[in-house]
Amino acid sequence: MKQDVDLRQKYLHALAQLEAGEARWGKLEVTLRLLIGRLCLAARGRAESLDGELRKLSELVRGRSDNFEIEARLEPLSRAIAALDDTVERPVALLPVGAEPSISPASEVRPIPATNSAPVRLQEQPDAEAAPSAAKHEEARVQAAIVSVLERLARLPELRSALGDLCERSRGELSVEDFAGGLERVARLVGEQRASLTREKRELEELLRQMDMRLEEIASHLADELVDQKGAQTSSQQLDFLVMNEVRSLNTDVQRAEDLGALRARVADRLETISGHLEGFRTREDARVIAQLDRTQRMRIRVGDLEREIHGLHKSLEEEQSLRMIDALTSIPNRAAYDDRIRHEFLRWQRDSIAVSVLAWDIDRFKEINDAYGHSAGDKVLRVIAQHLAQHVRGTDFVARYGGEEFVMILIGTGAEQGCQAADKIRVGIETMGFHFHNKPVAVTASCGITTFRGDDTPETIFDRADRALYRAKDDGRNCCRIL
Ligand code: GH3
Ligand code: MG
Ligand code: MG
Repeated sequence: MKQDVDLRQKYLHALAQLEAGEARWGKLEVTLRLLIGRLCLAARGRAESLDGELRKLSELVRGRSDNFEIEARLEPLSRAIAALDDTVERPVALLPVGAEPSISPASEVRPIPATNSAPVRLQEQPDAEAAPSAAKHEEARVQAAIVSVLERLARLPELRSALGDLCERSRGELSVEDFAGGLERVARLVGEQRASLTREKRELEELLRQMDMRLEEIASHLADELVDQKGAQTSSQQLDFLVMNEVRSLNTDVQRAEDLGALRARVADRLETISGHLEGFRTREDARVIAQLDRTQRMRIRVGDLEREIHGLHKSLEEEQSLRMIDALTSIPNRAAYDDRIRHEFLRWQRDSIAVSVLAWDIDRFKEINDAYGHSAGDKVLRVIAQHLAQHVRGTDFVARYGGEEFVMILIGTGAEQGCQAADKIRVGIETMGFHFHNKPVAVTASCGITTFRGDDTPETIFDRADRALYRAKDDGRNCCRIL
């Protein structure tokens, strides 16, 4: 979100400013150390005790000693200054503000010759007692450097109050004690400012870390919810809107905040509000998920019912289909079943070239049976003969009632001759079955025509030939089998 980026950039900018401030104060510290070094040089020669203190201080500011060590020297320095004879002490007149003298390293500045009785002059005076011109020149340079640095320091808002009176008085006369006191205040302020900046930087970093964590949490929540709950568009859009608003307000708060404490309080408030929105969103989504689970469960049950229904329908369709392929009177496959099977066996014969014979059966003079003993007697004969045919073929073979008193057989792996032999046995079986009606024997015989797939045969041509073979058997007197 853009607001998040703005907010983050705002904080990063604040952090960068703090770091720049820290660098600035570091530079200032270097300048102050240089300045103290110069002052030490300038103030020497008034008393031995003071010179000793000034030397120590000068060594400290040139070395890598910390500010505490320098501060520790201020007390003995003050005492040394207080011990100076009032008659020895002379006012120090500062150069007017303006010139920008270059600051040389302390090591290049030569000490001013020590004269206990003579005043320390940092400004060349027309009525001055005779002094070496080189020393005067050095005094002027040091004085100019001090004035310049003080002026620059006084421009900093943080030091204005500490140095204001010093600068004001610089237009008149200042004593070495005034300088030392002013510098002490400056040094303390610099230390305080640096400590404050470091503290502020740490606090900002911590705040940033917390905000990062919370925003990450929010982003993660949003991502999870949006991925898992694609259907919750309205709810997530609402959440999006609320969170965007809060983040926008947060951004405004950040821009308007005047101090870190208030800013933190506002940020905490906004984050709490966002958490509240998230909680509300989660509650709504929980309810939605429960309702969805319920719907899914009901749907699953419904799908289960439908599956069972479909399975039942499928089964009854299969049963219907198989019934459709079964002859109702004799319970053996019907002509439709034969049509399917002969096509299948034809393809297999084409592929494997295994002999396949087709046998066409017809009950002899069946019309006379019907006429003599009735239609139901005729039905009975049909059922018995159907069972007889079915029982005398192998499991891989096939028998069907083709229609009326006609039957058809498919013998797999059986040539015409072999098929004829099998057919003849069956035929004999029918002949010797011993049908009777009211204890009177009834002669029932059947004729069979046999043929085998060959040449350019099709399912239709092979049946026609078997039928023609049957007619030949009929022509030959019936109750016999013929091959064609
Ligand atoms: P052929 O030896 O020449 O075959 O003489 P056929 O009498 O058997 O032949 P035809 O075609 O003249 O007569 C067939 C008879 O079969 C006529 C018909 O009434 C009878 N029939 C056909 N279907 C059924 C049936 O489902 N039940 C009964 N009982 N008779 C049937
Ligand atoms: Mg017939
Ligand atoms: Mg017949």
